[in-house]
Amino acid sequence: MTEKLLRDVEYNYKMINERIAQAAEKSGRRREDITFLAATKTVDAEVINHAISLGLDHIGENRVQELLSKYEAYDLEHCSLQFIGHLQTNKVRQIVDKVDLIQSVDSFKLAKEISAQSLKRDRTTDILVEVNIGREENKSGVFEENLEELLCQISELPAISVKGLMTIPPICDNKHKISNYFYNMHKLFLDISQKKLDNISMTILSMGMSADYYEAILEGANMVRVGSALFGARNYT
Ligand SMILES: *Cc1c(COP(=O)(O)O)cnc(C)c1O
Repeated sequence: MTEKLLRDVEYNYKMINERIAQAAEKSGRRREDITFLAATKTVDAEVINHAISLGLDHIGENRVQELLSKYEAYDLEHCSLQFIGHLQTNKVRQIVDKVDLIQSVDSFKLAKEISAQSLKRDRTTDILVEVNIGREENKSGVFEENLEELLCQISELPAISVKGLMTIPPICDNKHKISNYFYNMHKLFLDISQKKLDNISMTILSMGMSADYYEAILEGANMVRVGSALFGARNYT
C-alpha cells in the first residue's frame, strides 16, 4: 500500500461527497439525505479503514469469502457493513450476524433462510429487495411485476425486515438511457410505498455506481454504491 493510494482515496472521497451534495441539491434534497456506501470488493482492509477514518460510514462487500477474510480487520465502530452481492442460500449463516443490511434479496427461498438463521440468533436482519429493472436474463433481481407478491411473502417471515429496494441497471454508456432506468425504478419505489404494505418499509432506494451515481440521485436514489471512483480501478489478480 502506497502513500499515493491513500492520498488518492482522500481526494476521491472529497470529490464524491461534493458531487453527491450537488446532485442532492439539484434534486431538492440535502447532502445528509443521501447515503454514500463504498463498494469495497478487492480493496485491502487498511485502505478501507483509511476511508472510514475520513468519515465514510457505510461499506458493502459482495463476496462472502472476501467479507469473512477481512471481517476482523475492518474498523466498524462508526461504520455499517452491508452485503451487496449475489448471496447463495447456503452461505447465509456465515454472514447473517456480521452484516447490518443485505441489499440483494431476490427470492423467497433466500429471504426464508435469512429469517431462519436470524431467528436462531435471536435477531432481525434488515434487507433490500433487488429488482432487475432492465429485465436482463441471467441477472439477479426480481422482475417488477413479481415484486409486490415477493414483498408480501417476505413480510410474513418473523426475523427479516424489508427496508427498501436496490437495483443494478444494464451496463450502457448512454446517460439518457441509464437515467430512464433510474426513473422507472424510483417510480416503482413510490408506487410500492403508496401501497403501505404491512411490515414493509420503503425507506432506502439503493442505485447508482461510480459511473452514474450523480444521475441516480437526480432520479431519486437515496443510497449510492461507489467503488472504483473512490478506490481506483479494481485489480483482480
Ligand atoms: C462493485 C459494485 C458496485 C460499485 O461499482 P463501481 O462501478 O466500482 O462503483 C456497486 N454495487 C455493486 C452491487 C457492486 O458489486
